[in-house]
Amino acid sequence: MSLHKKKLTLFAFFIITVLTVTAKTYFSYYVDFSLGVKGLVQNLILLMNPYSLIALVLSIFLFFKGKKAFWFIFIGGFLLTFLLYANVVYFRFFSDFLTFSTLNQVGNVESMGGAVSASFKWYDFAYFIDTIIYLFILIFKQKWLDKRVFSKKFVPVIMAASVALFFLNLAFAESDRPELLTRTFDHKYLVKYLGPYNFTVYDGVKTIQNNQQKALANEDDLTKVLNYTKQKRTEPNKEYFGAAKKKNVIKIHLESFQTFLINKKVNGEEVTPFLNKLSTGNEGYRYYPNFFHQTGQGKTSDSEFTMDNSLYGLPQGSAFSLKGDNTYQALPAILHQQQGYTSSVMHGDYKTFWNRDQVYRHFGIDKFYDATYYDMSEENLENLGLKDKEFFKESANYLAKEKEPFYSHLITLTNHYPFTLSPEDASIDKPNTGDSTVDGYVQTARYLDESLEEFVNELKEKGIYDDSVIMIYGDHYGISENHNKAMEKLLGEEITPAKFTDLNRTGFWLKIPGKEGTVDKTYAGQADVMPTLLHLMGIDTKNYLMMGTDLLSKDHNDTVPFRNGDFVTKDYKYVNGRIYDNKNNEPVTEKPSDFDARKQQAEKDLEMSDDVINGDLLRFYDNPDFDKVKPSQYKYEPGPKGQEKK
Ligand code: MN
Repeated sequence: MSLHKKKLTLFAFFIITVLTVTAKTYFSYYVDFSLGVKGLVQNLILLMNPYSLIALVLSIFLFFKGKKAFWFIFIGGFLLTFLLYANVVYFRFFSDFLTFSTLNQVGNVESMGGAVSASFKWYDFAYFIDTIIYLFILIFKQKWLDKRVFSKKFVPVIMAASVALFFLNLAFAESDRPELLTRTFDHKYLVKYLGPYNFTVYDGVKTIQNNQQKALANEDDLTKVLNYTKQKRTEPNKEYFGAAKKKNVIKIHLESFQTFLINKKVNGEEVTPFLNKLSTGNEGYRYYPNFFHQTGQGKTSDSEFTMDNSLYGLPQGSAFSLKGDNTYQALPAILHQQQGYTSSVMHGDYKTFWNRDQVYRHFGIDKFYDATYYDMSEENLENLGLKDKEFFKESANYLAKEKEPFYSHLITLTNHYPFTLSPEDASIDKPNTGDSTVDGYVQTARYLDESLEEFVNELKEKGIYDDSVIMIYGDHYGISENHNKAMEKLLGEEITPAKFTDLNRTGFWLKIPGKEGTVDKTYAGQADVMPTLLHLMGIDTKNYLMMGTDLLSKDHNDTVPFRNGDFVTKDYKYVNGRIYDNKNNEPVTEKPSDFDARKQQAEKDLEMSDDVINGDLLRFYDNPDFDKVKPSQYKYEPGPKGQEKK
């Protein structure tokens, strides 16, 4: 090696480190992150965006001297690599990037250990090859290093060049996507335009701003939101208003369920025969095939949050984890105050997961049947917790003893990434896409379907089925964009960005005692459930702050915003900055006349919802139709069957 004669100077080591970290970033762009990069400008931005922050951070160490300086540059490069790799692993699992908010949810990641370890890939060593080589040189080949004092006068020039490059990057990004930093909810856009390192800085600034927002918020902020939601509210449908007054409500959360499974056959066999039956309109259920999840990073917890509050989850992190101590005017508390309901949640995992034991007290949920209420012996467990069949069996017994009228929420678990199932529980052959996630999903979805059927039969036997409102919904997608290839095999069609949006249909089934079932093709989302249920109970909603509108109302608002700022309407969808026709998922040639208004509404919905949550605005609300919940009055005692998790 020529290094023997010509030694490695500090400046050369700096340049090499900048280049290798950048090279690894490119590697991650093309191998691990699916960013949807299109066209020359976006590719140019991608080439440009990692340099500025890497060079700026590492150039600081050029001010140091001798061996120390080499070590600092090495450690700096390693930390950047570590940040990149942490994002890679996180992305494979969540299809999203790490934020400071998600770091607060480390507890959840821990208990998802199995799912996370399934996210390692054989080629991951590629991210650390340079680290190992540099470490070897620094420890064993010190004689290769040129430790002479390095002229510092170039350092400010390098720093200035890095900052200039950053602004050039930003200018390009703003021209391709206006309002990138102020109006972008999608982390993939931000990383595509700014790179993962600048994204982390951006997220840090955002996190500090959000924390300040609560301190600065006041009544006027609340008034603004109330004015907005009041004009969005729609009149209830007379035929349904009060139709389910004081009826028991059983709400069934289908983990990771997507409606492409409905009527889907694999190897000639229906995957979900029971749900297929409920989706015909002949079993007393109103089935909503065009019902979408609206969750963000908070996934399961976001879906619960949105269904019970008609607000959206946060752009970063989970509202359950981050804003669990806020003031809320949630559905369980309203039902209790207006019609004397008792409320409960049943779930085969421990109560601290997603910070549920905190946030439920703020929603006014009376009882929480967590894992300590169930037989959690080893043979009853699968994946993250209790098997759905065991869960439903025991839950039906608890349900039969609830004080009526009740509002009970059952959260399933088995159909969860990475979709594992023991062979004795599998009753359908896996498809053969070669992707264990997609193949396993078909099997666990079948298991979920059977579990649901058994539960419905239990409810019928116990005499609590016919006269209850039953709500069933999928919480969020189970198959992320990282599995598009396998999904193309399974569905036999190309998964374009527009098609992927279609796959975010998670379905809603609603049985109202005394009313006929039907297939209702209305476009809707999870935020629409709360106003629908309140009207079914005959509760006047004019004073409640809700983003959604009643599904049964004739004026139902069918713009469905997603957490990333995209949205869908009955005619078209807005995805990744483009408009596609729902009929064929082709880009539209002419901008629809209602597009600007709908886009503005989708953005406004998200912004207003974020303001409510980040500013904790409901603490200012003296609602004539609501008494503030006193969280200290709620306590979730451990059940008779288990130890509390340490
Ligand atoms: Mn979930």
